[in-house]
Amino acid sequence: MKLQEYQAKEIMKAEGIPVKSGKVATTPEEAVKIYHELGGKVVIKSQVLVGGRGKAGGIKLASNADEVKEKATAILGMDIKGITVKKVLVAPAVDIAAETYIGIIIDRKSKSPVIMVSPAGGVDIEQVAKETPEKIFMTRIDPFLGVMSYQSRALASKLFSEPDLIKKTAKVIHQLYNIFERNDASLIEINPFCTDTGGNVWAVDAKLVLDDNGLVKHPGNEDLRNIDEEVTEELEARANDLSYVKLDGNIGCMVNGAGLAMATMDIVKYFGSEPANFLDIGGSSSPEKVLAALKIITGDPNVKVIFINIFGGITRCDDVAKGIIQAYDKLSMDMPIVIRLTGTNEEEAKKLLQETKLVSVGSMAEGAQKAIELASS
Ligand code: GDP
Ligand code: MN
Repeated sequence: MKLQEYQAKEIMKAEGIPVKSGKVATTPEEAVKIYHELGGKVVIKSQVLVGGRGKAGGIKLASNADEVKEKATAILGMDIKGITVKKVLVAPAVDIAAETYIGIIIDRKSKSPVIMVSPAGGVDIEQVAKETPEKIFMTRIDPFLGVMSYQSRALASKLFSEPDLIKKTAKVIHQLYNIFERNDASLIEINPFCTDTGGNVWAVDAKLVLDDNGLVKHPGNEDLRNIDEEVTEELEARANDLSYVKLDGNIGCMVNGAGLAMATMDIVKYFGSEPANFLDIGGSSSPEKVLAALKIITGDPNVKVIFINIFGGITRCDDVAKGIIQAYDKLSMDMPIVIRLTGTNEEEAKKLLQETKLVSVGSMAEGAQKAIELASS
């Protein structure tokens, strides 16, 4: 779950990280009102969950009411990478002297958080990693120990040479790590992390991504969700207790169990096609759940064929079959379905499915090939 910059900044500010916090406006008039409250030079920033807003023209400085109105009018309603801007953050502008980068991510290889810093901040960090990897410094953090003072100081000294700035930056690194750990985040980032002409440091931008699987531990964070910027199918799936991730292919997959769902995507790719999604309907699947799953899959316009791969253990094959038949009736589906059903109540399921247009197969490999063949015909 991605948070907007203003949400991430509020969390950072509460932790003590230096942030020039402003307010969010949805109309140019509101932006002007906030400007009058703040006084001085302000920055108007589009609030959308994509990077590169600056380059897209979604971030502008303004120093009087007319400019604020003009720039807020230009940004609100703007399209940035397919998302319409509905909110802008109006905040006091930082008088930037230097732009650096600080970020924390989970490194799967070492199964630990990794802190990354770079004196080349402000720009896309992936670009820095590609073109000038020597400008990125990383430190693995032992999750049982947390950040040690020597680590934060060493990292901070890669950004600045003045002792005072190193001290301030090291403190911010600890504060970022606290937020990251406490909220089960998968990413926290300040880009750019700036100094001003007065020797202060500021989080000029803020990014925070929370791990969806950790949200059960932090029910309060659910309120931070930006529903209108999330994938509709994924929201629908969450409401029905299904694990769904939208992908770009055209073979819709409905599987029980995450491992089998991964294997199903692998086998689709192995035979040369691309899955449209990951979908795990879970261990104890009711016909209602199957119906909801099929609704989500068929809602994706890219899907040409559905490949159902069920290993009936706790999940009963006849329950799945009933769901499919209900879906056929309710959704008036005419999409080809390839199904591999095996395990508990397999025979009952097969009997039920005889009346439908379903293509029944005996193995995963056969199913994947059949689905690919149908999708390309
Ligand atoms: P992003 O493009 O979506 O990453 O948005 P950022 O918040 O990082 O802003 C992009 C760039 O706009 C920054 O790298 C800065 O150069 C500039 N910028 C953002 N806020 C301010 C500010 O308060 N003052 C000044 N002078 N520039 C800013
Ligand atoms: Mn940025």
